Amino acid sequence: MIESGLRIKGRLDRMGRRFCCFGAAQSRKRKNGGHRTTSDSGVGLPQAPKNVRLFSYNELKSAARNFHPTNRIGRGGFGVVYKGTLRDETEVAIKTLSAESKQGTNEFLTEIDMVSNIRHPNLVQLMGCCVEGRNRILVYEYLENNSLANALLGPANKRIALDWPKRAAICAGTAQGLAFLHEEAEPHIVHRDIKASNVLLDKDLAPKIGDFGLAKLFPDNVTHISTRVAGTMGYLAPEYALLGQLTKKADIYSFGVLVLEIISGRCGSKSIWELDMHTLLEWTWKLRDEDRLLDIVDPELVGYPEEEVLRFIKVALFCTQATSNQRPSMKRVVEMLSDEVSLDVRNLIQPGVVKDRGQTPGNPSGSSGGIWRQRGGQLAKGSSAITSTSAAMSVIELQPR
Ligand code: ATP
Repeated sequence: MIESGLRIKGRLDRMGRRFCCFGAAQSRKRKNGGHRTTSDSGVGLPQAPKNVRLFSYNELKSAARNFHPTNRIGRGGFGVVYKGTLRDETEVAIKTLSAESKQGTNEFLTEIDMVSNIRHPNLVQLMGCCVEGRNRILVYEYLENNSLANALLGPANKRIALDWPKRAAICAGTAQGLAFLHEEAEPHIVHRDIKASNVLLDKDLAPKIGDFGLAKLFPDNVTHISTRVAGTMGYLAPEYALLGQLTKKADIYSFGVLVLEIISGRCGSKSIWELDMHTLLEWTWKLRDEDRLLDIVDPELVGYPEEEVLRFIKVALFCTQATSNQRPSMKRVVEMLSDEVSLDVRNLIQPGVVKDRGQTPGNPSGSSGGIWRQRGGQLAKGSSAITSTSAAMSVIELQPR
């Protein structure tokens, strides 16, 4: 099992021998499984691994109408994303990477090759890339309904009405995609940044997880993605945020927060005034103590099946338990979301919540169990402090995005 973006040395060595460098020697056209190795401008392109489709810069520029602002569909930590239409009319999402990769061309292409090989209906397909000159561009399948963040939490003009069956299907599909990354993809992948903006929706509102497998392509200082700690406040499992312990369980925690967002229509990464400055997760735990779990349900959801919604909320609480080994595997989560297993909530323990220093402390449960804060060089959990390890986060990494 690897974390997202980890290179496989043996494969790299093998592929490295197959790669060519930029330059005149490569300026003639060559076929490699149908993949062009010369750009439109005649500049030599590296030879792509078998599964990677290499696009020329000019091809992508023309697909995105000279990267026209009206083709711009979003901006993430890595750079701007444009909608493009290829010559064969295929619609694509073109992600222009704003920073130079810290990797060489061969390593970059090796990572792209690895990610291109990972296919599942609930994962965004990487179609290819461009590595011309200083440009590093990724080309993905285009998802018509943008991100779940926009559909659920975005400005009114970008929101999409999501009834319960659609929300349930988004939870289930995302769980399946993540279970595939964790347990079936070769090599296994820890996503590290599961959140609503990394779940994209196709024309039928089926979810697809994006941005997996590429976390190591860029220098740590370029985005919130760090090789030590990647991820987004509110979605970060305590053991990962504070101790740098990255396992599949950190993704499972983030998935739990995501499920609560989908049910409540509220953002999981902010403390909310309306909720006494509690985060969504803290608030949910408080409501559980008060036996009022259904109070988190989005007021826009009318006529939902209470038992099923309660099941989903409980699954989210299992996923976000403070102790990572108490959290179920994603495979188990898929089963728990269906009607197949009964949930024994007596075993449920309090969620772990990491709050950045700017957030007003709050501990709704009345115990000091689950809220972790950074204090100077130490990490404190409730009243008992633990000393940070070398993997502890910097303050910048703790800032919400
Ligand atoms: P971060 O970099 O912090 O993970 P992000 O997920 O929003 O943030 P990107 O993955 O670069 O960043 O995506 C930016 C936006 O571009 C997305 O929120 C979405 O609106 C849009 N987008 C990205 N990929 C696609 C795609 N394949 N199809 C359609 N829209 C996309």
